[in-house]
Amino acid sequence: MLDTAQSVTVLCHVHPDADTIGSGLALGLVLHRRGVPVQVSFAAPDSLPESMNELPGCELLVPSDEVRSQVDLVVTVDAGSRERLGSLASRIDSARASLVIDHHRSNTRFGSLNVVDVDAESTTAVITRLLDLWNVDIDSELAHCLFAGLVTDTGSFRWVRPGSHLLAERLLATGIDGGAIARKLLDSHPFGWLPMLGSVLGSATLVPDAVGGRGLVYAAILRENSEGLRSEEIESVIDIVRTTTEAEVAAVLKQQAGDEWTVSLRSKASVDVSAVAATLGGGGHRNAAGFTAFGSKSDVIETLTDALG
Ligand code: AMP
Ligand code: MN
Ligand code: MN
Repeated sequence: MLDTAQSVTVLCHVHPDADTIGSGLALGLVLHRRGVPVQVSFAAPDSLPESMNELPGCELLVPSDEVRSQVDLVVTVDAGSRERLGSLASRIDSARASLVIDHHRSNTRFGSLNVVDVDAESTTAVITRLLDLWNVDIDSELAHCLFAGLVTDTGSFRWVRPGSHLLAERLLATGIDGGAIARKLLDSHPFGWLPMLGSVLGSATLVPDAVGGRGLVYAAILRENSEGLRSEEIESVIDIVRTTTEAEVAAVLKQQAGDEWTVSLRSKASVDVSAVAATLGGGGHRNAAGFTAFGSKSDVIETLTDALG
């Protein structure tokens, strides 16, 4: 499909992370170099997270309302379902064919062809193997994009499997600066991040009886906490909350509009939060998942604790 398409649109998921953008830009760059007209986009929010603005291929990104509707092929990267494409999901129907490239356990196989490897560390790892099959030479620009997804989705190489470090080594051997890429994506926050953490973590709550006695810890980021901060600051909170030893499951509620919340879930071992998120209209991986909820903060907590059992 990639070989024969005369025009391609690459779609990343809403509220993009470095795995979906790294995958999208790597694929976009390869197609662009082959002379294929290609657009890369995501439906929301309006702009790319600042931490990703040095990824090679950013010039291929177009605003969502400029995405062509008639193309030979739409490729989606790191999206587990149509819903994760937001308003751009309709572009799948108007294309001649669609190719879904992903690694989510909850993937609904919504493409005409689906390349879903649930054992892959990141979608960029799946893309790397596709590029190998396609005899594409992986240079430092492509490696930069691919490494971005690998280092973030593995939690800086904490959630790895045999082969993960070989892939990292191969990408690093192209000459990219892995330390600088990781620092820009994961370890750079404005000073205002610290007081936000102070108030949000200061009101974190431990519910030892939840999850059948295995424990839930949660924190809520209200709009007033996150004013002037970027998505990078907000998304960092779950990685602190989830370290609580007394809780098997961690949740961070992120207030969007008044009563709209996006919720991040993480588990350590015995709970499949992807299944829990799916019952609440979301999805994800076994140990990292999310969903969107409406209501007051206490409504959302009650819905969540009920679903966790
Ligand atoms: P996050 O907590 O936003 O980092 O998301 C953790 C995982 O859950 C990621 O793999 C997401 O793709 C997935 N996820 C988050 N929110 C949703 C949602 N509303 N629907 C489906 N999957 C989601
Ligand atoms: Mn993602
Ligand atoms: Mn991913």
